[in-house]
Amino acid sequence: MSSYYEATIPPRAPAQPLHGAIDAEVCIVGAGFAGLATALGLVERGIRDVVVLEAQRVGFGASGRNGGFVFGGYSLDNADLLAQLGPQRAKACYGLTRSAVDLIRRRVQAHAIDCDLVEGGALLANWFDDESLLLKQQRLMADHFGVQWQLIRKAELEAHVRSDRYFGALLEPDAFHFHPLKYALGEARAVQAGGGRIQEASPVTSISRAGTGFSVSTAQGSVAARHVVVAGGGYLQGLVPAIERAMLPIATYVMVTEPLGALQRELVPSRAAIYDTRFAFDYYRALADTRLLWGGRINVRDRRPEDIAEFLKRDMLRVYPRLADAKVEFAWSGMMSYARHKMPQIGRLTGRDGAGDAAGAWYALSFGGHGVAPTTVAGEVLAAAIAEGQPIPDGFQPYGLPRTFGPLGLAAAQATYAWFELKDWARSI
Ligand SMILES: Cc1cc2nc3c(=O)[nH]c(=O)nc-3n(C[C@H](O)[C@H](O)[C@H](O)COP(=O)(O)OP(=O)(O)OC[C@H]3O[C@@H](n4cnc5c(N)ncnc54)[C@H](O)[C@@H]3O)c2cc1C
Repeated sequence: MSSYYEATIPPRAPAQPLHGAIDAEVCIVGAGFAGLATALGLVERGIRDVVVLEAQRVGFGASGRNGGFVFGGYSLDNADLLAQLGPQRAKACYGLTRSAVDLIRRRVQAHAIDCDLVEGGALLANWFDDESLLLKQQRLMADHFGVQWQLIRKAELEAHVRSDRYFGALLEPDAFHFHPLKYALGEARAVQAGGGRIQEASPVTSISRAGTGFSVSTAQGSVAARHVVVAGGGYLQGLVPAIERAMLPIATYVMVTEPLGALQRELVPSRAAIYDTRFAFDYYRALADTRLLWGGRINVRDRRPEDIAEFLKRDMLRVYPRLADAKVEFAWSGMMSYARHKMPQIGRLTGRDGAGDAAGAWYALSFGGHGVAPTTVAGEVLAAAIAEGQPIPDGFQPYGLPRTFGPLGLAAAQATYAWFELKDWARSI
């Protein structure tokens, strides 16, 4: 029971590991969306001498395993973003993700990336019998973020989803969904077509200062680069302690049913990507081959595919009991990286961060479970910083690299999640 995404891409050419010593203007660690968007942003700005080093294969991490939702915002709730940054900076910071959604769309077109893109928006279905929740969110988005989310009352919901579970919804019309691994592979091809290099099966083992730049080493080679960008997501381990102690690797899960035929459209007439108003929400979408892709839950540990299939199917049946006989054909997990503040960490390490030899390295991490658009933001921000000397946008400045305290932090994250799950449950009875 592997990943549906891996099973539905054309066969890949064998990995090309790095061999020997090479030079590059910029060396990027990690070929997930953050690393690839940075590489593509650099190539588009005329810096073609870019090499991306990936421990496994392109899109191996969260980027090639996620739900495929492409929508505005960050892992941090929009109301909290507003409270923490104030009206102007919050709107600007959110606006970056809106532009990123649009940039992804344009890149799909410009590079002819065949990634099963479906324009249908994102539907936030209300789990609770309380319309004020939707009205409040709708007002917040219109008044402070300049976006109109459309209210769908319970009586009209049938045209979108046929489940008694929900009490209305909000539709974010500008969102879409896609096959994330196909998009990652398309981005990688665009980087290569622009002159960049991608070396897979090349885990980076050390980053050290060398002259005015860095030496980035793998088991079989090294890159001498003026700039280095660390974009290893929740899979980064034992490379840059100053970054790793500021993020928590957290697992989340996805499954895909067998083809459901006409029943899929009957239950989910909407083309939108769907999630709900709980803290511990389900997220799902109808695939073109009539399957349903279903995701949810977080945990500090990885789980076996059989277990994932079982608990996610239970979640699915709470919403669509008619799918009791549907077989689950794929189930997998992925690691996300989270900061304590739930915002991305985008910046440049300094001696004050205790970065040692990695001082001066750029980083883009901690996109959490809402990272497709924000990784694209990070790519643009870092490409503009490296190629044009642009500053990191104001909105990211308050969110630094606070320690997460390793196992203690993981225990606290698990306890917080359980507490919010309990609150979701109490509110829905
Ligand atoms: C199951 C799941 C569902 C999700 N659903 C959504 C969704 O629907 N919408 C959304 O917006 N977000 C979603 N997210 C979040 C989103 O996928 C992530 O935030 C985003 O993909 C993170 O990208 P990244 O490039 O930072 O990390 P990754 O994609 O994890 O990439 C990091 C890469 O770095 C490599 N690496 C690590 N260490 C090294 C090293 N030492 N040397 C070389 N390479 C290294 C890894 O192998 C990996 O390929 C989901 C995440 C998961 C796991």
